[in-house]
Amino acid sequence: MISKETIEQVLMRTDIETLIGGYVSLKRAGSNLRGLCPFHSEKSPSFTVYPADNSFYCFGCGAGGDAISFIRKRENLDYPDAVEFLAQRAGITIIRDERTPVPGEKKFDRNRMFAMNVDAAKYFNKCLFSDNPDAKAALSYFTDVRGLSTATIKHFGLGFAPNSFDQFSKYMLAKGYSYDELVAGFLCGRSEKGRYFDAFRNRIMFPIIDVSGNVIAFGGRVMDDSKPKYKNSSDTPVFKKSRNLFALNFARHHCTESMILCEGYMDVIAMHAAGFENAVATLGTAITSEQARMMSRYTKKVIISYDADEAGQKAAMRAVKLLTEVGLDVSILRVPGAKDPDEYIKKFGADKFRQVISDSKSKFDYNLDNILSKYDINLAQDKIKALHESEKLISETYSSAERDIYIQRISQIFDVDKKSVKSDVERIISRANSTRRKEESQKIKQDAVGYSDRVNPDFIKAPAAAKNEEAVLGLLLIYPEHRKRVFDGGLIGENDFITELNRRIFSYIKDAYFNGDDSHLDIDAHFSPDECGRITKMKISRMNLTENGTEVLLDSIANLKRSVSKKQNEKNSSLDSLTRLLEQKRKT
Ligand SMILES: [Zn+2]
Repeated sequence: MISKETIEQVLMRTDIETLIGGYVSLKRAGSNLRGLCPFHSEKSPSFTVYPADNSFYCFGCGAGGDAISFIRKRENLDYPDAVEFLAQRAGITIIRDERTPVPGEKKFDRNRMFAMNVDAAKYFNKCLFSDNPDAKAALSYFTDVRGLSTATIKHFGLGFAPNSFDQFSKYMLAKGYSYDELVAGFLCGRSEKGRYFDAFRNRIMFPIIDVSGNVIAFGGRVMDDSKPKYKNSSDTPVFKKSRNLFALNFARHHCTESMILCEGYMDVIAMHAAGFENAVATLGTAITSEQARMMSRYTKKVIISYDADEAGQKAAMRAVKLLTEVGLDVSILRVPGAKDPDEYIKKFGADKFRQVISDSKSKFDYNLDNILSKYDINLAQDKIKALHESEKLISETYSSAERDIYIQRISQIFDVDKKSVKSDVERIISRANSTRRKEESQKIKQDAVGYSDRVNPDFIKAPAAAKNEEAVLGLLLIYPEHRKRVFDGGLIGENDFITELNRRIFSYIKDAYFNGDDSHLDIDAHFSPDECGRITKMKISRMNLTENGTEVLLDSIANLKRSVSKKQNEKNSSLDSLTRLLEQKRKT
């Protein structure tokens, strides 16, 4: 647990405008700021930042909250990690509350975990050069199949995990490490029956090293077709998959110009061996925005080199999006005549590959190439289709200056008038806009009647009462002075709430108040990101009500009590009629 003081300090030291401004381009709108929502796709901004209140809210998708909520959602982190993320950013050392450890979580010394990983890496490396036939096969995979030199194997600290359930752990236990530590470091697993086993067996091993040079995790690959092909350490006390990149410890010294993003460890190693030491890879997962931002700290340009298959190309498009968002110049590498860069370098040599890199294309060029290779533009039918697809591609470009350049090029390639391409593109854009507007207004209508309310599914059962609940909660959330009146005066209780979510929020504020703990409400620690969004909405819709706040509060409470008693009466009257019915039966 992180202490309340720390959380308050983190929020105080985080300027929400600068924080969100790092992800979203914001424009001033009165005392607030507005921009395109990073959580849903939109072309007219409904995402608003309220610097006075240190919060944000999106009127399109309902995302909202404070700086912590934003990071939870944007970086896909859980609550404590989001706080730590912001603390690091603000230069605050996190003080975890020692008295209340998270259940099941044991404390491990980081330096001891690093030492354990180094010992494991040395062991795997030693095994690679042993006389065991499996190890010989592993070494021959590196040297003969992949063509790696002994120097490269040493440089990356590659290794081999023997085909045994306990050979590795026995060695580590003898070195003084415990099973608890081995399991926490993802080097051992534990069966349901409580038996320990080596996590990596009969696999070639890639140590993962952070930028400070610590061995933080391992990736293991099989040499045959058995599954899974890659096995990676899960997150451990010293390792977060989403925050590290393979070979960044080397690449960071060679990447002022550009970085090459590969799919797998072997691609990276082959590139480094061929002299392209600016290559990195994610750790068995798709790239995260956190990794994208890390890369932007080291370089200006990223060349994506993913497999040519469909999965690889889809992943590449996703990576383009995330990398462009953090301001990186992105291009996509195509290796003609080979399935991946490794094969290309082996076939045609490093110099040719250098040429391919400098020829790598922007997303637009890359997609245009795909269109042109799909059709024969000498045939009228094909030409029309290709032109239409190209125009659609241009319509997806945000900047109008860029669109003009592409329109010029397309008109030359297809030998058609520039003006007609331009008007086609404009038509596609305006059609897409109107479809989107229709969808948005449809959504707003649905939200208004409480349809598809995932966050508060009870809303639809009693929309009027739920609105009153939200009014009361909004006022209690923003104005602490109302809490005394409502809670001490017992004006309203949990039983006056019809919807479960709102009852829970009420309970939370009430408990915090009676615990004398409500100077800062820890909404994020108690509610899901979606619920935080709803809570922010309640605050925002009440924010302009300073003057008649008390009146609205008392009115809403009275309305709520009325709806509850109405519900009660309905129940009672049906009970009455049942009693009458029974009495009649008795009489006859
Ligand atoms: Zn949104």
